[in-house]
Amino acid sequence: MSAVHDAAKTLFIALVGHDPEGLWSAPGRVNLIGEHTDYNDGFVLPFAIGHRTVAAVGPRSDGKVRVASTFADEPVEVALDELSTLFPTATGAAPAVPEWAAYPLGVAWALAAASGAGAGAGTRAQLSGVDIAIASDVPVGAGLSSSAAIEGATASALNDLWRTGLDKTALARIGRTAENEAVGAPTGIMDQMSSMLGEPDAAIFLDCRSLQTQLVPLGAAEAGLAILVMDTRVKHAHSTGGYGERRAACERGAAIMGVPSLRDVSVDDLQRAEELMDDVTFRRVRHVVTENQRVLDTVGVLRERGAGAIGDLLVASHASMRDDFEISVPELDTAVEAALAAGALGARMTGGGFGGAAIALISADAEKAVSDAVQAAFAASGFAAPHLFTVTPSAGAQRDA
Ligand code: ADP
Ligand code: MG
Repeated sequence: MSAVHDAAKTLFIALVGHDPEGLWSAPGRVNLIGEHTDYNDGFVLPFAIGHRTVAAVGPRSDGKVRVASTFADEPVEVALDELSTLFPTATGAAPAVPEWAAYPLGVAWALAAASGAGAGAGTRAQLSGVDIAIASDVPVGAGLSSSAAIEGATASALNDLWRTGLDKTALARIGRTAENEAVGAPTGIMDQMSSMLGEPDAAIFLDCRSLQTQLVPLGAAEAGLAILVMDTRVKHAHSTGGYGERRAACERGAAIMGVPSLRDVSVDDLQRAEELMDDVTFRRVRHVVTENQRVLDTVGVLRERGAGAIGDLLVASHASMRDDFEISVPELDTAVEAALAAGALGARMTGGGFGGAAIALISADAEKAVSDAVQAAFAASGFAAPHLFTVTPSAGAQRDA
């Protein structure tokens, strides 16, 4: 058990007065490559990381769902029967509960609904009330998907306690429903799939149209490689507007091309796309189309030549996001450039953009040299110090105790 498990258990005991029935955890994720392709029905290649969110959970006899987090001052309590009066949250409206609580409560709502119980669920034998105490070492708002981690830990716990029997892909969908309809964040399915399905030392090649997955061995540690996360600490505060605008541009581009989504546009179609649409829409389209191809190429290179050979694809991905999709910020560009100059094999921003983190593929013994170079570049540019740490491809959601 890690310190995070201890923290969740301690919070539970302080709240409830006895031990939880169990501890469940789910990880954050890093997307190795494939950015803004998920909602275009395309391909992504994330991996689950060792940083995890832990939910200590136990049943209650009064039909209430109470959630507490070490991040929040106050627990939030709602009757199970009332969840369907709170959610879904109207488009653009703030959730009826504190935003953080909408993640676990949204999962409880979506899972109860999916179990077929719906309203009146509290009277069903298997859908008892619950106490949920949450702790985490996934940095929040850094592009490492602390949101999918809290959803995955909660969904796994409730699926076991309520005996709803959903598989991992179905639980990923529950997490996305919570995030889309309870929190009101219009995100795709990648984060939840990675958090649910991760395996040690592997990336998850996910087809966001079929939701089919293949595990792709990374062999990073064996090859003496490490992945350095460079959290710029720029909060992606304006992401809602920028993200929505990018999604709209993608939909516009697909409509102009006469296809259901940009997944159906290939690199060979780009010349025609350029003739048909305005420059901004075209560049958004070009990012998505070439990024899908880069994911396919990365999977091929990983299988044939190993992780040490994917650096150029990472660098090309970053350039595409910076120049075509225009979702980078100076801090992310600085992190990528400084890491590459210090010898990283590849580097790119990861996550939705407008802040958050970049990753660098480095030789494991170069961690200090690359980190020092990135810190120095940030200081020279007058940016706040970044948070630098390595991540390990790790297991997905599971019951730990
Ligand atoms: P990211 O997923 O990149 O970390 P998001 O904005 O999608 O960023 O999700 C972060 C939000 O998720 C937090 O602002 C908070 O509302 C919620 N959250 C994540 N982890 C926790 C936690 N351990 N306790 C409470 N809320 C959390
Ligand atoms: Mg998130």
